[in-house]
Amino acid sequence: MIEVLEPATEEVMAELPEAGVEEVDDAVARARAAFGPWRGVAPAERAALLRGLAAAIRGHSDELTTLEARNVGKPIGDARGEIGMVADCFDYYAGAPERLLGQSIPVDGGVDVTFREPLGVVGLIVPWNFPLTIASWKIAPALAAGNTVVLKPAGLTPLSAVELARIALEAGLPEGVLNVVVGPGSVIGERMVRHPDVAKIAFTGSTEVGRGIAAGAAETIKRVTLELGGKSANVVFADADLEAAASSAPIAVFGNAGQDCCARSRILLEASAVDRFMEALESAVESLRVGDPLDEQTQMGPLISADQRNKVASYVDGEAPIAIRGRAPDGPGYWFPPTVLAPVSNDDRAAREEIFGPVACVIPFRDEAEAVRLANDTIYGLSGSIWTRDGAKALRTARAIETGVLSINSNTSVRVSTPFGGFKQSGVGRELGPDALEHYTEVKNVYYATDD
Ligand code: NDP
Repeated sequence: MIEVLEPATEEVMAELPEAGVEEVDDAVARARAAFGPWRGVAPAERAALLRGLAAAIRGHSDELTTLEARNVGKPIGDARGEIGMVADCFDYYAGAPERLLGQSIPVDGGVDVTFREPLGVVGLIVPWNFPLTIASWKIAPALAAGNTVVLKPAGLTPLSAVELARIALEAGLPEGVLNVVVGPGSVIGERMVRHPDVAKIAFTGSTEVGRGIAAGAAETIKRVTLELGGKSANVVFADADLEAAASSAPIAVFGNAGQDCCARSRILLEASAVDRFMEALESAVESLRVGDPLDEQTQMGPLISADQRNKVASYVDGEAPIAIRGRAPDGPGYWFPPTVLAPVSNDDRAAREEIFGPVACVIPFRDEAEAVRLANDTIYGLSGSIWTRDGAKALRTARAIETGVLSINSNTSVRVSTPFGGFKQSGVGRELGPDALEHYTEVKNVYYATDD
C-alpha cells in the first residue's frame, strides 16, 4: 500500500494499493483496446464528451479543490483557481476535434492532402507540485486528438488523478480511454517508457529524470515531450514601476511554496535600484501569509515532504547572505520560511540549481547587456519576467533572453490558450495553446493519382 501524507499535518490522509509492472501492462492493453473505438468517435461527439468532462469537473470543484489543497499543502484559493483551469483546459481542447485541419498541397498528376492522425496510447507522467493541472495539460489535447492515455501521478499526490478517472467515467468517457496507475516512478514509470505499445511519453518533472526518460524512449523511438526544471530570471530595470515589481516578486518565487518550475527564483536587479527595491521587497515578504492551506487568507503553505525541506535548507546555509526572512509556523508540517538571499553571485550554487522551495536570489547587474548575459547564464530556459517602462528595451531584452515563456511588467506564465515550454535543458516541445496538438498527432501525407 502507498501511504499518502498531508504535508501541513504530516498525517496519513489515504492509503492506496501500489501498482507494479503487471498493472501498467494491463492499463496499456485497455488503452490499446479503447484506441480504435475512441479515434472513431465522430469529432462533434468527442468534443461534446470533453465539454461534458469539463462540466463534471466544475460540478466536483469543491471536493477536488480540498483534495489538492490538503494533499499538496497548497493554499485553498490557489487550488480552487487550478481546478478552474483544469476544467477550462478540457473546454479549450473540446474545440480541437472539429478543427484538426490538414492541408491540400498542389502537386503534379493528382491530389495531395495531409491528415493529422492520433499516435495511439500515450503515457503521461506528472509531478506533485500541480498534480491535476499538469495532468490536464496533457490529457485534454491527447484525448481531443483521438489518443487514449495511461496517466501516472506522482507517488506523493495521486488522489486527484484517481478522482478524475472516476469523474471521467461518470461524465460518459468510454472505459479504457483514460487510465490511471499509481506506483513508484522507478518501476511503473520505467515500464511505461519502455513499453512497446506506448507511442509517446509526455513528462513533467526534474531534468534528471527527464534525461533518463529521453534515453529510455530512444529504445522504441517513442515521441517524447519533456517539461523540466527552471531557474528563471525576473529582470528588474531601474526605470520600472519598482513598487509593482517588488510587490509581485515574492509570489513569483514563493507561490506554491516555491515548488514551481516557473518560479522567478533569480531576481536580477539593476544596481542603482537595489535600495528602493529591497525596501519594498522586504515589506512584501514580511506581509506574506504563511500557514494552514485550508485558510482562505493563506498565501503560502508547507513544502511537500521532509526530504524536500532538507533539500531546500541545504541552499540557505551556503555562500550567500540571508537578506530577508519571512515567518513560518512551528510544529507539525514541512514548513520553511520565505527567504531572500542577497547579494548573490550567479555562480553560487543557490543561483545555479533549481531549489524548488521558497528561496529567492537577488543578483545585481550594471546594464542591459549584463542583465541579458546573466539571465542566459544557466542550463535552463523556462520562463521569466522583464520590468521596465521603456518598451523598446523590454522587447530587445525579451528577444535576447533564451527562454520559452516571458512576461513584461507581469509575473504570470501560464494561460490555457498560449504555448508553454522550455528552451535548453528546460524541456522539449510545448504544452497548451494550439501548439500542444502537434505533439499528440502525426502528419500523414496522402497522394491520389488523378491523371491518366
Ligand atoms: P521527479 O522528476 O523524480 O518526479 C516526477 C515524476 O516522475 C513522478 O511521477 C515520479 O514518480 C516519476 N518518476 C520518477 N522516476 C522515474 C523514472 N525513472 N521513470 C519514469 N518516471 C519516473 O521529481 P521529484 O518528485 O523527485 O522531485 C525532485 C526535484 O525535481 C524537485 O526538487 C525539483 O527540483 C524537481 N521537480 C521539478 C518539477 C517541474 O515541474 N519542473 C516538478 C517536480 C520536481 P514518483 O513520484 O513515483 O517518484
